[in-house]
Amino acid sequence: MISIEHFIDGKITKGSSKRTGKVFNPATGEISSNVNLASTKDLDKAVEVAKKAFTSWSEKTPLFRARVLFKFKELIEKNYDELTKIIVSEHGKVYEDAKGSLTRGLEVVEFACGIPQLLKGEFTENVGTNVDSWSIRQPLGVCAGITPFNFPAMVPMWMFPIAIACGNTFILKPSEKDPSCSMKLAELFLEAGLPPGVFNVVNGDKEAVDAIIKNKDIAAVSFVGSTPIAKYIYENCAKNEKRVQALGGAKNHCVVMPDCDLDQAVNGLMGAAYGSAGERCMAQSVAVAVGKIADPLVKNLSKKVESLKIGPGLDKKSQMGPLVTKEHLEKVKGYVDIGLKEGAKLIVDGRNLKLQGYEAGFYMGGCLFDHVTKNMRIYKEEIFGPVLSVVRAKDYDEALSLVNDHEFGNGTSIFTRDGDTGRSFASNVKIGMVGINIPIPVPMAFHSFGGWKRSLFGDQSIHGPEGVRFYTKLKTITSRWPSGIKSDPEFIMPTMK
Ligand code: NAD
Repeated sequence: MISIEHFIDGKITKGSSKRTGKVFNPATGEISSNVNLASTKDLDKAVEVAKKAFTSWSEKTPLFRARVLFKFKELIEKNYDELTKIIVSEHGKVYEDAKGSLTRGLEVVEFACGIPQLLKGEFTENVGTNVDSWSIRQPLGVCAGITPFNFPAMVPMWMFPIAIACGNTFILKPSEKDPSCSMKLAELFLEAGLPPGVFNVVNGDKEAVDAIIKNKDIAAVSFVGSTPIAKYIYENCAKNEKRVQALGGAKNHCVVMPDCDLDQAVNGLMGAAYGSAGERCMAQSVAVAVGKIADPLVKNLSKKVESLKIGPGLDKKSQMGPLVTKEHLEKVKGYVDIGLKEGAKLIVDGRNLKLQGYEAGFYMGGCLFDHVTKNMRIYKEEIFGPVLSVVRAKDYDEALSLVNDHEFGNGTSIFTRDGDTGRSFASNVKIGMVGINIPIPVPMAFHSFGGWKRSLFGDQSIHGPEGVRFYTKLKTITSRWPSGIKSDPEFIMPTMK
């Protein structure tokens, strides 16, 4: 059995703890490896190493750091297939989808290659007579990232390339369900010329996370995961005087207006609801059907959901792979049971799917509910599986209220041909990321990603310009040279003339 350890100080490092977690191949249901679950001691050791590495790494020029990132980018490109297969083998998503998610991570590396430009400060000559003032951004120190299972390459890559480009050192605590991709990325970064200790991977569970929260030498924590844990991280990091951004769960609504291009909306919804088996924080799990579009929408969706091609992620014909673990599969099926008890109409039931040759894999078919209402648990809670709920709204205003009243605020989209409606929606919807005829409006690496309400705790989104701000602190310097200055004591608040 393969044993996955930690990557500390540029090498694979055995953990001191005897605790391990099982990593599965969701396509077959087999255990593929055991991952060591770090002790507090292991985490503290990694932080010590990262703290030491910070001194020289933060002194390197931004140009030097950018060149290491350029090399890292090249190595990722050379290892695309291997990295993609690692994602598929531990997460389960289909190959092309996994590859796409790696590309979205790579784009953050490409963005971080521009760090000499991104770190340029601001300068004002003569803020007062012969007085100049400028602002610079400096790295924070040791930063940590805690990431979810659903994007084992992309979400860690939202964080560490930018943090490291800014001159910080980094401890990544990936999901214990699919840790191998982070280990491979750490190896590649070292090969790219990153000094040992700058990027460390500590595998683990709650014990490692709590050790991150308590360690006084960690300056900032980026978290992505479910809302209850995001809130816990946010509150406890703040108590421990750390900078924190904690991205949480979601329940994304797709508003389908009667004037939309129905084919476009149906195809958009299919990919957004069932792609990656619905295990995406930007998955559209609620379709709000406005007025007379409801019946044709449900009819068109049901045909497509029934014909979804489900199979192992490495099979080129598969459109949807298995769920990540048996436990998660049971949880998602449990929500379908709840929906039925609550009185929603189950149009397509994928609970009993069996795949010949893959009987032990964690598969289910797509499920489609109609007549879901806002008091139902299947509407209120995040299911995180291939279950789409259709809610019927009489008009645009009712649809907008549904989106705005929901506790989550990650992403949303509207399908319409009407410019006024699209514009009004973009202005008035209380959601962080909005698509107009775009089903999954995930911002590109050079913009920033983040939700509103209980989908993000903290005030900085992730990657893009907000990422650079999060991983640096601002310093403003005001100076004058002594020549020709009369220096009598001044007891009044200094003002500039
Ligand atoms: P999760 O919250 O269970 O786990 C996330 C991380 O927290 C993991 O590294 C895990 O080890 C750690 N963790 C889990 N329980 C903990 C505890 N009790 N104490 C301390 N740490 C703990 O999330 P998940 O199941 O891995 O991922 C799915 C969730 O992530 C969904 O809710 C999804 O919406 C969310 N997500 C959000 C975004 C976003 O950008 N907002 C992106 C991806 C995923």
